[in-house]
Amino acid sequence: MSKIQMTTPLVEMDGDEMTRILWQMIKDELLLPYIDLKTEYYDLGLKKRNETNDQITIDSANATKKYGVAVKCATITPNAARMEEYDLKEMWKSPNGTIRAILDGTVFRAPIVVSNIKPNVRSWKKPITIARHAYGDVYKSVEIDVPGSGKAKLVFEGEDGNVLEETIHEFDGPGVLQGQHNIDKSIESFARSCFNFALDTKQDLWFATKDTISKKYDHTFKDIFQEIFDNEFKTRFDEAGIVYFYTLIDDAVARVMKSEGGYIWACKNYDGDVMSDMVSSAFGSLAMMTSVLCSPDGYFEYEAAHGTVQRHYYKHLKGEETSTNSVATIFAWTGALRKRGELDGIDELVDFANKLEKACIDTIESGKMTKDLALLTDEKNPTVLNSRDFIVAVRETLEGLL
Ligand code: NAP
Ligand code: MG
Repeated sequence: MSKIQMTTPLVEMDGDEMTRILWQMIKDELLLPYIDLKTEYYDLGLKKRNETNDQITIDSANATKKYGVAVKCATITPNAARMEEYDLKEMWKSPNGTIRAILDGTVFRAPIVVSNIKPNVRSWKKPITIARHAYGDVYKSVEIDVPGSGKAKLVFEGEDGNVLEETIHEFDGPGVLQGQHNIDKSIESFARSCFNFALDTKQDLWFATKDTISKKYDHTFKDIFQEIFDNEFKTRFDEAGIVYFYTLIDDAVARVMKSEGGYIWACKNYDGDVMSDMVSSAFGSLAMMTSVLCSPDGYFEYEAAHGTVQRHYYKHLKGEETSTNSVATIFAWTGALRKRGELDGIDELVDFANKLEKACIDTIESGKMTKDLALLTDEKNPTVLNSRDFIVAVRETLEGLL
């Protein structure tokens, strides 16, 4: 069989620890035998980031702007312990934060659903994708511990000298205060990323806030979404047969718990923080969760939602056997390859990505899985495989599908 040819390279961002080990195994066993893999390689491993004063991370984000699609391995975000472990010149910033600051956009996270691991919510049959707005609100708020009686005001001093003022509260004793903000530009780019992603994945989009109580703040989110939808997306949603659905956040939560899944749930920053942990743990495991950064300009960066699995890496270094789940990292590759195939009109690449995903799911559904899933499955006697043997088992399933 001749290998699938690519026309445009993927931006490949290598990473750290156990996921770096899996990265190479995935390439060797599941990609290179079938694809004439074209990538522009950036080593975002911490050693290289330190050597290049983190320039490599910036370069990889700029390359993503050039080519449009990237696939990223999990990376270490340095802390005090890592400073010592890697003898770092500086406590480099989180690569994900750096890349997101350059590309802008929203992170979409969706569980990978298999039949022998049942979600804790019985009605859920299809994945629920969470899109979290990642700017402002309580995460950029200022707070005051109110010591005692006094008047609190909200004041805006316009550059033109115009002053807007509201009394927040007249305190007759101690209390607390918080000032939050957001900016239209960020909300607009969040909205566009969500609408684009809905079209891209042909799923309905839900959005919810508390606009009945927050008549200016949350209402602005609601209005911006509606205006962008009406002006830029409505026709395309109709053509794709999908809907944009707005409701109150409490109503949304109630509906989510009774739904079958199969839609994107756009959340304000705090809601997304809380709800993504709820949805992911109810679906099973972070090791079965995909994550893609989708920029408002149409760039995509695919990765796994979990970290570098440090504990397993130290076992691996000691020569001990590991059973680390590679599914989310494989799906980062398939997501990127499928997107590349779609953009370049290479049907075989799209087909290969779909089959590789199916091979992962079929392998797990046949009872062969890593230890993390064996602890969750209803399967009576699952076959627990080590890190490499699981990837080899996926390859055997894939051979049958190709
Ligand atoms: P982690 O790598 O997600 O691992 C936490 C624990 O979750 C593991 O010890 C393991 O549990 C389980 N786990 C996660 N992924 C797994 C997989 N694929 N297969 C099997 N089990 C899995 O989080 P962490 O240990 O807190 O962070 C390690 C490093 O990752 C940190 O340096 C952090 O900065 C970085 N990180 C990077 C990203 C990213 O690049 N996107 C995201 C998060 C964290 P058991 O030990 O019980 O088996
Ligand atoms: Mg959280």
